[in-house]
Amino acid sequence: MARTRIELKSSDEIAVMARAGAIVCEVLDTVESHAMAGISTFALDEIARDVMSRHGATSAFLNYPHDRGGIPFPGVLCTSVNEAIVHGIPSREQVLVTGDVVTIDFGCVFEGFYGDSARTIAVGEVSPEVQHLLEITRQALDEAIAQCGVDRHLHEIGAAVERIVRPHGYGIVAEFVGHGIGRSLHEDPQVPNYVPKGYKACSGLRLEPGLVMAIEPMVNLGTARTKRHKDGWTIITADGLPSAHFEHTVAITEDGPIVLTSRT
Ligand code: MG
Ligand code: MG
Repeated sequence: MARTRIELKSSDEIAVMARAGAIVCEVLDTVESHAMAGISTFALDEIARDVMSRHGATSAFLNYPHDRGGIPFPGVLCTSVNEAIVHGIPSREQVLVTGDVVTIDFGCVFEGFYGDSARTIAVGEVSPEVQHLLEITRQALDEAIAQCGVDRHLHEIGAAVERIVRPHGYGIVAEFVGHGIGRSLHEDPQVPNYVPKGYKACSGLRLEPGLVMAIEPMVNLGTARTKRHKDGWTIITADGLPSAHFEHTVAITEDGPIVLTSRT
């Protein structure tokens, strides 16, 4: 893997990131409480804007430049429904129905620091197989976070995701990975959800106090292969089957990992 430049954070900086993370968590909790049949993803985006601005935070995603010269990202949320994996655009036309799953991904900046978190939400009752996909993906994130002790290695994170997900035959998305986070949304290192070819699980960057990463497994019910929707932004599964995505911003400390984007 390419040599990386890591920006370690002081405990004071991690404290600010925890405040950014708390805002992210509140936005996601509020959006989740409204994510029911009959609401549009556009309306969810408006709810997120409201909570975010009440806290004096600004969006990490709004106007994010397109990688191929398309329109900048128009929402504060990425709202990815069913076969959409990431980067779904909130839309007035997209109204949630019972049985859908919607991934809400939200990032913001507060006092110069970023927070980033995502969760896939079931709209009413979903099929048992989709519910299982959500549970396993969330479990993969938890297990990945559990690896984040001082002196552990970066690829133990991806190994943990694989250990949880592979037995179920689901597809682990490889093109999109977790990332360092701090004064920028995307910093080094990249955090893959698998052990890169030719590497051992117990290899890669040594985790040290002050490293903050967004860890974010994306898991597909079927194939791991992806396609880009014609809207230019949304990434969807190649076979049209549903996908799940859970993400937290996590700080490595002497006392173990701290999840900055959860309510604890
Ligand atoms: Mg995110
Ligand atoms: Mg992220």
